[in-house]
Amino acid sequence: MTQSPNPNARLVAILQVEKEARVQCQEPGCAHGVYRAIHVIDENGKLTVLGSTCFAKRFGGANALGKAKFGGGSGRLLTPSERELLRGNTAALLDLLEKEQQMHAQIMQEKVRALHAAFHNRKPLVEPSARPYRDDAQRFGIPWTWAKPLSSIAYFPMRDGTAWVRVQHRGGEHLLMPWPAFEGWDEALPSSVGVADPELGGLRVHDLAESIKYLKAKARFMRVGIWREVIGPSKTEK
Ligand SMILES: [Zn+2]
Repeated sequence: MTQSPNPNARLVAILQVEKEARVQCQEPGCAHGVYRAIHVIDENGKLTVLGSTCFAKRFGGANALGKAKFGGGSGRLLTPSERELLRGNTAALLDLLEKEQQMHAQIMQEKVRALHAAFHNRKPLVEPSARPYRDDAQRFGIPWTWAKPLSSIAYFPMRDGTAWVRVQHRGGEHLLMPWPAFEGWDEALPSSVGVADPELGGLRVHDLAESIKYLKAKARFMRVGIWREVIGPSKTEK
């Protein structure tokens, strides 16, 4: 049978049924029973069921019409009720397959959505802790975030007009911070009193007693307490 293939032909489905429930190939003159790789084609709205051999013969190859809309390979295996539809109402079967595909797509979409939601609601690896905020309050106005919470400071207004604050780092170390900071602070005091840490903007103290003794000798006075009492509300406090 020579017949030029219909250019509007579409491969709608590749299906499979149990061998004992095979269906008839609808290629004119064939009438073979087929149960694997049943090709359902749509030609201008007319549905035809073909065996894979007849399909390849008619269209010039197994892949001549590309991928099937439903099923693939040797075909999606039909349930008995679907098989009855294939025999009696192929269009209804295709509707069913269409709905099934949409349902799968929807399920996939929901899965993807659920994954997205889980991703966005996940616990961050580094949980923003409430601690810095509490520490802010517990620094009593000390403007340096590294300052040890609940610690007192010592304030030294110097006779030369500069001023220093002794403040404890949360790591335990004491620092002398120029307050307010002034040009040349890093060289204003002997290194025996403190060694400049440009990053922290103050002097790291190695011998607290010696440093305090030095400062007291040159300060107008020394006041010890919490920042808010000794210096007042800090304008730089965040
Ligand atoms: Zn055939």
